[in-house]
Amino acid sequence: MSIQDIQRRLQQWAIESRLYFKENAEVNALHNWHLLLPMSVIYLVILDIFFFMVCPWIPIPVCLPCMISFLGFHILLTGFIILFHKKKMPIWAVQTVITVFGFEILTYAGYLELSAFPQMPTFLFPLCLCLMTQIYTRSTVYRITEIIFPFGLYLLFSFYLKTPSLFKIDLFILCIAIIISGLAVFTQTLYMIQNDKNKRTLQKLCELDSMTGINNKAAFQCQAEEYMDSHERESCALAICDLDNFKIVNDTYGHRIGDEVLQAFSRQLHDLADNDDQIIAGRFGGDEFVLFFKQLSKEEVLQKLQCLHDIEGFKFEVTCSIGVAYSAHRKSNMVQMFDCADQHLYGIKGDRSQAIAIADAD
Ligand code: GH3
Ligand code: MG
Repeated sequence: MSIQDIQRRLQQWAIESRLYFKENAEVNALHNWHLLLPMSVIYLVILDIFFFMVCPWIPIPVCLPCMISFLGFHILLTGFIILFHKKKMPIWAVQTVITVFGFEILTYAGYLELSAFPQMPTFLFPLCLCLMTQIYTRSTVYRITEIIFPFGLYLLFSFYLKTPSLFKIDLFILCIAIIISGLAVFTQTLYMIQNDKNKRTLQKLCELDSMTGINNKAAFQCQAEEYMDSHERESCALAICDLDNFKIVNDTYGHRIGDEVLQAFSRQLHDLADNDDQIIAGRFGGDEFVLFFKQLSKEEVLQKLQCLHDIEGFKFEVTCSIGVAYSAHRKSNMVQMFDCADQHLYGIKGDRSQAIAIADAD
């Protein structure tokens, strides 16, 4: 792999991970916020055990004001989390509290190690450093911020408290730890991005009709109802399209040609809906297709539907009939609109002089 390849992969990773964390920020923040209280309480218990039992028992030559400051700071942080843990916090606040928490754990680990083993090369601090960068699903920038200060502080104290050769060993070990953490963050993020992509692809596949590639009944209803619920005053229309004499096409030319007709009609629906946010298309089953129009006038709906009457590309004639329910004042729900469109569709079935019937659903 050339340098350019590595550069390109890293750039792509940076773009994709930024996008991933942006899109998942809210879910991650909520998840982290729920985890934070138990983690903070557990950490408080560990701090107490260390402070009151382990340190006097071993004994570790610790500085009392430092230990009291650590304990006091963590009690304050836990108090803050208890106070706000039922509230919905902005994403940046959650990320900052987690970063402060991580910063605190790392600094405390470094301090304890320097107090207990001043004559030994570092081993506890780099271990914590690697672990801390992996725990939460936060963006890389927060993880880096969290380790930079304790890392600098540790090196500073190691420089003053340890012998020059021990300091050099510490520096070497910490650089290795940073490289390992960086690689772990990189691969972990790659895995999360890939997982997210697979999930989305699977979700998309579940929403589509396998033969025609347009929304299936459930996905169509879900999207249309979501719009109706969130736009209570806006007009909308529902059109049901049913192919004429499709059974005869199947019986005369075979089911394979029948499928091609359905796919050709779906392409016409795709052309109509794919580049237009105001239209949702779906297949309800068999030769029955549906269209949902947002905020369009009756004339606009009729004009959009004109192109659907004839299905082109076959030696034989294939047409469809369309029943439309138009709701200007939004006095009807989805079921009522569907019944209205269905009723008007069957009113014109077999009438070759009329292809589209539109009615007020209100
Ligand atoms: P009408 O003009 O009254 O709509 O009559 P029609 O012949 O189109 O009959 P109808 O709409 O009631 O029936 C649709 C037929 O579509 C029934 C079924 O055999 C056929 N069909 C359903 N799903 C598929 C499919 O996936 N592929 C093919 N080729 N045919 C299908
Ligand atoms: Mg039909």
